[in-house]
Amino acid sequence: MFNSVVQLPQDGSRPGVENILSETTGLNAPMPIEADVEVDVLVIGAGGCGLAAAIAAHEAGAEVAVVEKGNAIAGNTSRSSGSIPGAGTRFQAEKGIVDDAERFAADLLRVSGEHDAPHLTRRLAEVSAELVEWLADTARVELELIDTYRHVGHSVHRLHAPPDKRGVTLMDGLLREAERRDIPVAFGNPATSLIVADGAVLGAETENNQGERVRIAGKATILAVNGFGSDRELVRRYCPAAGEAEYAGAPTSEGEALRWGLPLGAATGNLGAYQGHASLADPHGVLVTWTLVEKGGIIVDSAGARFADESIGYSAFAEKEFLRSGPFYVIYDAAICEAVAANQEEFGKLVEMGGALAAEDAATLAARLGLDAAALEATLLAARQAAEGTAADRFGRTAWGNGALGGELRATRIVPALFHTQGGLAVDADARVLNTQGRPIPGLFAGGGAAAGISGREGSTGYVSGNGLLAALGLGLIAGRAAAAAAAETRREAC
Ligand SMILES: Cc1cc2nc3c(=O)[nH]c(=O)nc-3n(C[C@H](O)[C@H](O)[C@H](O)COP(=O)(O)OP(=O)(O)OC[C@H]3O[C@@H](n4cnc5c(N)ncnc54)[C@H](O)[C@@H]3O)c2cc1C
Repeated sequence: MFNSVVQLPQDGSRPGVENILSETTGLNAPMPIEADVEVDVLVIGAGGCGLAAAIAAHEAGAEVAVVEKGNAIAGNTSRSSGSIPGAGTRFQAEKGIVDDAERFAADLLRVSGEHDAPHLTRRLAEVSAELVEWLADTARVELELIDTYRHVGHSVHRLHAPPDKRGVTLMDGLLREAERRDIPVAFGNPATSLIVADGAVLGAETENNQGERVRIAGKATILAVNGFGSDRELVRRYCPAAGEAEYAGAPTSEGEALRWGLPLGAATGNLGAYQGHASLADPHGVLVTWTLVEKGGIIVDSAGARFADESIGYSAFAEKEFLRSGPFYVIYDAAICEAVAANQEEFGKLVEMGGALAAEDAATLAARLGLDAAALEATLLAARQAAEGTAADRFGRTAWGNGALGGELRATRIVPALFHTQGGLAVDADARVLNTQGRPIPGLFAGGGAAAGISGREGSTGYVSGNGLLAALGLGLIAGRAAAAAAAETRREAC
């Protein structure tokens, strides 16, 4: 579908000025872009990474343009819950939480194990506090520390999110700041290939929303196109365990970074890693918050039996579900249901829609779910004994939140899903794309799902909550600054 690489004319000529479509202004609508084929920094993709990069590059003095495939905000950042980790932020200090980059990096590496980009783990942990405060102060996104529940993999409260915990609010904030800075964001203008001469990336060929080809030269080009989660063939090749899984991320993640980077000789990293989620409500399709499990809920299969330690987290547990056939059920009690519904809007709506089946005891619940009553009763009894500490859990679970389930029971039918891939182009600590010899490919930067992630080498077990947005926004900030500096250097050399 996408060309790999387009070469600029060898005679040194450059394409003439062409208009990239402009219609109305306003959020989530096509916006005007400077009718200029040359900018300092060209950003491909208006997701979290792309907009953070664009704002950072503009802040550093660069002339920036963003091209976006979707006709409106379309990527995973807007689908996320907008939770971004920051270690050592003023938001943590206000709540008396002591944290730093070293502790954060240790948490990340404990979960991810060894992988291809430990330099990014360290760099992103180091930049995380600055990132959160930069988002709040410079990009003017309203953020607060989440301290009502602990996130998977973090030893302290360090995730920050918009008050409504919606990625779309984060994106609206970033887009508004881009608008304030007059950074052109061209929706409905996909990049179709990179423009390359002598091994250096000079910009991209794009298509405007009238179907015309527009070649945009950039002294630096940032790939912020996310990963390859919606390309089934690439998922099967690199993440086979998730090859047949339902995909719950954005359809726009079609793997352009790999398709364009590999022919240029780019190295890759951590291609087998991905984030899964074990609990998508079936058939509602909405996320069932993992807080149910963290507070003591359990997950059973169609035999009414548990099959793994749920406390390994929603991403790691997804892989356990991918390996068996459903349906699956998360079982919790009325007290958990009430407390979580009161605090988490999306779950509250699910309950209102009838997504939490109620029963006064295990036998009634089993009958309503079509499960074997004796098996479910035995499962609940064993879980209760483990939670109360009177018997060891056969799956090794030791974290039981509120303790044993009690009183009326609730159940939600769930399916596992692939959320996004965590591997991509190898980049250095300044987000410069590296070739297989470890040298930067001139003019090319990458971040977010387009770049190698920090969630382990393969599978879903290495993902820590917030890794996706940290890699997107953190590398966006880093790439934007580094690309602006590279563009300024190119300008100086040309003088
Ligand atoms: C349901 C869900 C919940 C999540 N929750 C969290 C969370 O709370 N915290 C967390 O850290 N992570 C979370 N994640 C993961 C996180 O959303 C992603 O890792 C992150 O948003 C990736 O950001 P990005 O900028 O790389 O990609 P995106 O936000 O997807 O942006 C990429 C953009 O590039 C555009 N694009 C693609 N190809 C082209 C092209 N050829 N030309 C022009 N534009 C193009 C796309 O249309 C898109 O707008 C979640 C993911 C999902 C699916």
